[in-house]
Amino acid sequence: MKILTNQPLRHLNSFNLQANASYFASPANVEAAKAALDFANSKALPILVLGGGTNIIFSKDPHGLVIKPGMTGRKASFDNNDVYLHVGANEGWTELVEWTLDNQYWGLENLSLIPGTAGAAPVQNIGAYGVELADHLYQVHAIDIKTGQERVFNNSECEFSYRNSRFKAQQKWLIASIILKLSLTPNIRTGYGTIRQRLIELGITKPTPVDVAKAVIYIRQSKLPDPAITPNSGSFFSNPIVDRNKFELLKDKFPDIVSFAQPDGQVKLAAAWLIEQCGLKGFSKGAVGIHPNHALVMINHGKATGLEVMELAKIVQDSVMDRFKVSLEIEPRVI
Ligand SMILES: Cc1cc2nc3c(=O)[nH]c(=O)nc-3n(C[C@H](O)[C@H](O)[C@H](O)COP(=O)(O)OP(=O)(O)OC[C@H]3O[C@@H](n4cnc5c(N)ncnc54)[C@H](O)[C@@H]3O)c2cc1C
Repeated sequence: MKILTNQPLRHLNSFNLQANASYFASPANVEAAKAALDFANSKALPILVLGGGTNIIFSKDPHGLVIKPGMTGRKASFDNNDVYLHVGANEGWTELVEWTLDNQYWGLENLSLIPGTAGAAPVQNIGAYGVELADHLYQVHAIDIKTGQERVFNNSECEFSYRNSRFKAQQKWLIASIILKLSLTPNIRTGYGTIRQRLIELGITKPTPVDVAKAVIYIRQSKLPDPAITPNSGSFFSNPIVDRNKFELLKDKFPDIVSFAQPDGQVKLAAAWLIEQCGLKGFSKGAVGIHPNHALVMINHGKATGLEVMELAKIVQDSVMDRFKVSLEIEPRVI
């Protein structure tokens, strides 16, 4: 297994933040991954698993070994109407979704155009437009980064919740591959966001999954900056969830507050609305800013440093706390 030293990471994270990895490896299979993990553990080095770098903020250099799983491959097997899709960790998520649509394996259309790798998808239980990975994840094949032991997790063992999982909470697993459970029968979900409105604009009354995917792609492209042009890491803050009492107090004071009732009685607040109300949409400090059209997205104007990103994040968190007494959590992993 080839271990590189002193590798720059700027081109490996979508915020384009400069950082260096003392040691770097990109194993193409499970055996090579175990060898790289052995190397790090024999030297007592910390280990960071890096996917596409679209949900990571380098506020400093990561210590130890950065390991970027290189496993590829997509293979479908069938059981009546169900499609079980085996996918290597390094497959690009967006390309994977396109490929499922080309093959008429349905289920992932609402998750179109989410950047990053398949291996990272379970980590924060990626979600968009009313669907999350947990709805279609069958199994995860992972390696314990300390012991090198392999383990298969069924869906219920992944402990999925909103933008969370055991992989995010424990940070002790390298995901080598996943198995998705899709269907040969479409299940159209247009109830979230502006999907239905977009389909009406196009005169589509009986949408196919491909129509839904196209609507999602259109909406995302019109709202979110492309990291290849404007470096960013997508939503910088998670939507906070508050209990019903707290929500009623907020609603009394701020009748226009944007919220989504949760099945368990709690209420999810739109972090973008909270930030916008603080007058921070479009605000910049140094080389970092809040996107002028999307208050949840922080952007790199050029040569931003990780420290500048964290300074602006703190300004946003403090402003929202002062005005609403609501705590905003940073969504990407901060190194
Ligand atoms: C423009 C934009 C839009 C986005 N939109 C959405 C959205 O709609 N919904 C959504 O949920 N997310 C969204 N994201 C966030 C991001 O796309 C997802 O979190 C994605 O899954 C991250 O994948 P990655 O490969 O880039 O992971 P990375 O950023 O490299 O890593 C993220 C985390 O996963 C861990 N990790 C990565 N790979 C592995 C692996 N193989 N095994 C174990 N741990 C691993 C890392 O250690 C880190 O903790 C968006 C990001 C951007 C830039």
